[in-house]
Amino acid sequence: MKTYLRVLSYARPLGLLAPQYILYVILQSVFSVFTLAILQPVLTVLFQTKEKAVAPVDMPAFEWKLSYVKEVFDYYFLNMMQDDPMRALTFVCIVLIISIFLSNLFKYLVEVIAAIVKAQVISNLRNTLFGRLMTLHIGYYTEERKGNIMSKVTSDVQEVEASVVSSLKAVIKEPIMIIGYFAMLFFISVKLTLITILIIPVSGFIISFIAKKLKRKAHQSQETLGRISDILEETLGGMRIVKAFNAIDFSKSRFGTQVNNYARLNISMTKRFALASPISEFIGVGVVALILLIGGSEIFDGNSSLEPESFITFIAIFSQVLVPAKSLSGALSNVQKGLASAERIFSIIDTKPAIVNIPNALEFKSFNDKIEVKNLRFGYQQTPVLKDINMTIKKGEMVALVGPSGGGKSTLADLIPRFYDANSGDIFIDGQSIKNYEITSLRSKMGIVSQESLLFNDTIFNNIAFGKPETTYEEVMTAAKIANAHEFIDQMENGYDSTVGDRGGKLSGGQRQRISIARAILKNPEILILDEATSALDSESEKLVQEALGNLMKNRTSIVIAHRLSTIQEADRIYVLQDGEIVEQGTHQRLMEKDGVYQKLIKIQSVS
Ligand code: ADP
Repeated sequence: MKTYLRVLSYARPLGLLAPQYILYVILQSVFSVFTLAILQPVLTVLFQTKEKAVAPVDMPAFEWKLSYVKEVFDYYFLNMMQDDPMRALTFVCIVLIISIFLSNLFKYLVEVIAAIVKAQVISNLRNTLFGRLMTLHIGYYTEERKGNIMSKVTSDVQEVEASVVSSLKAVIKEPIMIIGYFAMLFFISVKLTLITILIIPVSGFIISFIAKKLKRKAHQSQETLGRISDILEETLGGMRIVKAFNAIDFSKSRFGTQVNNYARLNISMTKRFALASPISEFIGVGVVALILLIGGSEIFDGNSSLEPESFITFIAIFSQVLVPAKSLSGALSNVQKGLASAERIFSIIDTKPAIVNIPNALEFKSFNDKIEVKNLRFGYQQTPVLKDINMTIKKGEMVALVGPSGGGKSTLADLIPRFYDANSGDIFIDGQSIKNYEITSLRSKMGIVSQESLLFNDTIFNNIAFGKPETTYEEVMTAAKIANAHEFIDQMENGYDSTVGDRGGKLSGGQRQRISIARAILKNPEILILDEATSALDSESEKLVQEALGNLMKNRTSIVIAHRLSTIQEADRIYVLQDGEIVEQGTHQRLMEKDGVYQKLIKIQSVS
């Protein structure tokens, strides 16, 4: 129930929508019932049963009662019947047309309002969800499977979308319709109506039987869908590897297992889901038969207070009660499915971002003095990845982090822009812990170029101007020139408006990297973090990229992680990280003089 109300709370701004919805449903119900009730006078005309009935002479006095409507109707109708039955029939038909027109008009309005509410819920939910995804810390994305997140944003939201209308039906519309029909049934015959009410607990039992387990199954089915998009995502991204390793069959079977799982769950869900409608119809018609037996036998015995035309009208209306009753049980099952999805969505919305601003965080206006890492310890899980790191980087310095793979270099670099927070110890910039700075202002002064240049499937212009919509063409071009990228961009068919393909697939590795560098140049950061920016490149493009990086690093403070040690020999200081510890530090010259890890690494590289 809590989840349910929470979903509906996303319908805001509701304004007058809710009262309008209820009003239109009530009016729809009134006119639908009225349309059916007209059957009675129609039968009267056709069978001429009231030929000798005495028509009221005076118009009935007004009363707040359902019977008043009937009396007014009878007043006109019976008088007409006596004068001219054809006129009476025409009168009844006109009333019928007006009534059915109104009932359908309100039905239409009810659906329009439901659609508005649905659209609002879904837009708000999607935006909130995406907004939350943007604020979650990087660690969340390494822990959670990407496909699962994607399916929460797409297919779970769709499930909720489908169930919003159902839930409005289940909670407001169908109960009001049912009440309307029952009011008329009671009006016609209290005794028969009481018998029909017997079906309510029976239907209730059936609905709960069907809805049970449905939510859990829906949960599992959405999880499976998540896994399917996960595999799809991974496989599409790694197509080359899949083909190169002849892993097509392996991938197919991995995908196939999940697809079959999904199919199995869906069949089992449908088996239950599809039961709702036939069972309630069966019971409903069973009750109609029961009423026919009881009511009919009374009419035969001649001791019935019910005229045959009222009896037929009763049965006609009762058969219509089955429609909302069926729709109600279907809607309730739908709501269960939607709730399972809603819970999955809320699991993301409720995740608290691990990296947040402290209250009254300082704005990081400019970098003036130094970055200090003090007694820093960090681990992703239990195992420590960084153990007691201490280093100082002065403004304008270039500092390099080197060492064997897995030593913790990237992790250390990730801690500076606060992608993660240290377990103990801290990083200070200009004497303040980085936790005291407002995160956006801190990151706005940092530029990051990594091994995997992340480009979006968009134009080159937009990829360079990324996150800065007000950038001009000239600014982008200047940045591209400094990044050694202008020349190749210029030669492309549409220049800066050429698209780069999925993740920049239409460009070479070196070109992608130079675009990333142009992006960083445009951002004009004071602190640069280069994480293996050239390692994925061949030596030809490495030269161009290296030159571009040289331009980027001019007059900035930079932290460079390098695999190729030839690129960092000019560094002011080199830190050698091994197993999460700084084992050596100093200039290239100093480290070469020692017979240590650095010298060994250099030797290995010069041999290879
Ligand atoms: P380097 O950059 O020196 O190659 P990393 O900083 O990438 O080293 O990794 C250091 C250690 O942390 C490795 O043992 C690696 O397995 C582990 N590690 C890296 N990223 C994660 C992560 N997201 N979750 C858990 N462990 C990680």
